[in-house]
Amino acid sequence: MSLIVQKYGGSSVSDAESIKRVAKRIVETRKAGNDVVVAVSAMGDTTDELLDLAHEVTPIPAPRELDMLLTAGERISMALLAMAIKSMGYDARSFTGSQAGMITDAQHGAARIVDVTPGRLSEALSQGAIVIVAGFQGFNRDTKDITTLGRGGSDTTAVALAAALDADVCEIYTDVDGVFTSDPRVVPLARKIDRITSEEMLELAAAGAKVLYIRAVEYARRHGVTLHVRSSFNNNEGTIVYNPEAGIPAELGRNGVEVEEPIIAGIAADLSEAKITVVGVPDIPGKAAQIFKIVAKTNSNVDMIVQNVSAAVSGLTDISFTLPKSEGQIVLTALTAEQDAVGFQSLQYDDQIGKLALVGAGMRTNTGVSAKLFEALYEAGINIEMISTSEIRISVVTRADTINDAVRVVHTAFGLDADEVAKVHGGTGR
Ligand code: ADP
Ligand code: ASP
Ligand code: MG
Repeated sequence: MSLIVQKYGGSSVSDAESIKRVAKRIVETRKAGNDVVVAVSAMGDTTDELLDLAHEVTPIPAPRELDMLLTAGERISMALLAMAIKSMGYDARSFTGSQAGMITDAQHGAARIVDVTPGRLSEALSQGAIVIVAGFQGFNRDTKDITTLGRGGSDTTAVALAAALDADVCEIYTDVDGVFTSDPRVVPLARKIDRITSEEMLELAAAGAKVLYIRAVEYARRHGVTLHVRSSFNNNEGTIVYNPEAGIPAELGRNGVEVEEPIIAGIAADLSEAKITVVGVPDIPGKAAQIFKIVAKTNSNVDMIVQNVSAAVSGLTDISFTLPKSEGQIVLTALTAEQDAVGFQSLQYDDQIGKLALVGAGMRTNTGVSAKLFEALYEAGINIEMISTSEIRISVVTRADTINDAVRVVHTAFGLDADEVAKVHGGTGR
């Protein structure tokens, strides 16, 4: 008997009909002789709607109360799913994150799992029940409060359960057929990837491909969990996300012939960042350190950094960096407070930027990838404002309103276009 962990995203459980459809799928898995543990997200766009509601009540909701509110979304879907399964004559039991033993740190809104104690789940399984766990939530032992794992965090719940219960497979069910070379909502000719290394998947997730949450991929990599991302709307094979050092488990049946990996795995876009430019910084040692010490104190997640060559006459330079829009105001305030101490002239804030990232392990051994990327953007008349590279990624910043075109032309330029249009089965893309 195998133990299978399945995660169903919000778009797969958006209404009563979908919940019944998913319940059927789960029962089929059980009938095939497997133990089943399910992590479920809130229905449809419930989390976004709850967030909107909170912001209507107050512009800055208290983090503890916001987590209380948001975790209610997953409680609704877990209970409905368990009811649906029970009505089909199978035993099912739902558990909140804390009942399931998802122990986290105390960071509301972005808690990290520090321990998983799934005693109650194992007990329910041994009694023959199907286990349904509310995704996205945990519990902190010191504060005794409920936490959430960050947007998209139900993926992490599933992976953590798979690791703790030593599951044979961790299946992530969503509204597309797997991980594609780019978001199929943006690039109609995006191609489904059959298998992708966790290293490449991490880069794609970090660059904005929300099909998998970055912390879930990290957790899976660290704990040796292989993922199968697939559609809950059909039975097609999806995408295997695996660690090449560990190989692909035999159960997933793809251990066959090693084919040469493509140079490019995929392209992701991110519209959630803004750019701050510190104008007129004295070009002397220590100034960058001073600026980024101030930024670091705000706990902001700085991404790209570019320093211009200084003007010979003035001896002044500009330093630009990108950061999440949500952290923009805090960082601007912190820098303004230290303007005299640092000695810069002014600050510019630009929240109309988009970031494109081209990801592929094959880049390591392939020259000319950047040239081809820049050429494709040039031919489409798209201006590049910033560039950064890592071993397996090249990122560029463009105007926000050109980012979707940028992704499409780069997708074509690297020969990634499929012959047919990718299907999106549900969801609103919110
Ligand atoms: P769920 O509700 O199942 O968690 P999400 O909305 O979080 O679903 O993630 C699925 C969505 O991710 C898809 O509908 C798609 O629009 C988007 N997406 C972005 N990049 C990719 C990609 N590279 N491959 C597949 N889907 C992607
Ligand atoms: N419901 C949460 C969200 O929308 C968690 C998840 O769906 O993974 O972010
Ligand atoms: Mg998701």
